[in-house]
Amino acid sequence: MNAKILGTTETFDTSDVVDPEAAPDTEPLSFSRTLNPTPASTERRAQIHAQPGFGKFFTDHMVSIDWDAATGWHDAGLIPYGPIQLDPAAAVLHYAQEIFEGLKAYRHPDGSIWAFRPEANAARLARSARRLALPELSEEDFLASVKLLVSTDHEWVPSSDSGESSLYLRPFMYASESFLGVRPSKQVRYLLIASPVGPYFASGVKPVSIWLSSSYTRAAPGGTGAAKCGGNYAAGLAAQLEAEAHGCEQVCFLDAAEHKWVEELGGMNIYFVRKDGTLVTPTVSGTILEGITRSSILTLAGELGLKVEERPISIDEWRAGVASGDITEAFACGTAAVITPLGRLVWEGGELEIPTGEVAMKIRGSLLDVQYGRTEDTHGWMQRLV
Ligand SMILES: *Cc1c(COP(=O)(O)O)cnc(C)c1O
Repeated sequence: MNAKILGTTETFDTSDVVDPEAAPDTEPLSFSRTLNPTPASTERRAQIHAQPGFGKFFTDHMVSIDWDAATGWHDAGLIPYGPIQLDPAAAVLHYAQEIFEGLKAYRHPDGSIWAFRPEANAARLARSARRLALPELSEEDFLASVKLLVSTDHEWVPSSDSGESSLYLRPFMYASESFLGVRPSKQVRYLLIASPVGPYFASGVKPVSIWLSSSYTRAAPGGTGAAKCGGNYAAGLAAQLEAEAHGCEQVCFLDAAEHKWVEELGGMNIYFVRKDGTLVTPTVSGTILEGITRSSILTLAGELGLKVEERPISIDEWRAGVASGDITEAFACGTAAVITPLGRLVWEGGELEIPTGEVAMKIRGSLLDVQYGRTEDTHGWMQRLV
């Protein structure tokens, strides 16, 4: 790596830091392939497919790619799924330099296997990497890792008649260097694991109750709210406990500055449906994670004859809108649960019932139809993996 000139006299060795401006590796990686000598039996897989739950069981393989500041990405390969070695001084364990993604592989009626907008996950992983001072993995290498794992473990992708089942894919990247100094890690590992999952809500879609946290916030301007990093989730857990203590399933976070504007749930974006058929979703401006489901709904809604507005929406507008009947539905959206109606909003000192209607479920159906290949994919959202 060349030394970078700062001003006229000062220089420093860029091998000491991750340079986010560095040209991305252009050569695609080649992946080695080491098969698991003891894969799960057909019977075991069938057992798991019968009751997969969410994120509990993992396939026979994973993909691993190493990075270091001197050589960039290297040692890409498919290996048996299993525990990883981590030095107790690994930076990720101390300073949480970690990011992840979440996407699904869907089996279509003809047996083929597809991913939904995986290039958007690749782009978001790269954005998250820049924010957490981690190296960027190219879209090409990201997609290659997904194809390699899903094609090797294709038997783990649930059948298309299994309802809403799919193979959940979890790519992630972490600081693996053992060093307690505070600076971007010079060693990083990318891993991709996969887990067969059933419908997020085993007993069918039912409205979830929401706790409005007044003591905790998720993201502040200039922080990491727009990056998909584990630290955001760790910071939300205390609020999740508070929600549970108040009989709620999920937390809705307000903005950190004014405590007034509705942002999102801990892991899902939020939409409101108005009486006149307009959908409203908060503008993403740095403190909200830009969901791929959220963005797809913006497109689908127009096609379903719904107007869409991206604008700030206050908690007062939400409460007053439900009271006056102007807000007829509210729902959360994300890859894992697709679309979930919100049924009850609870806060310190009050609560209200949110009405439910057909709009959320209609959009949900349209999205699932594209993902499971039951309707034409007019946007080129699906990419064939197998
Ligand atoms: C992943 C995530 C979402 C949803 O994003 P999708 O791309 O739709 O799955 C929303 N909010 C947060 C905080 C997330 O981490």
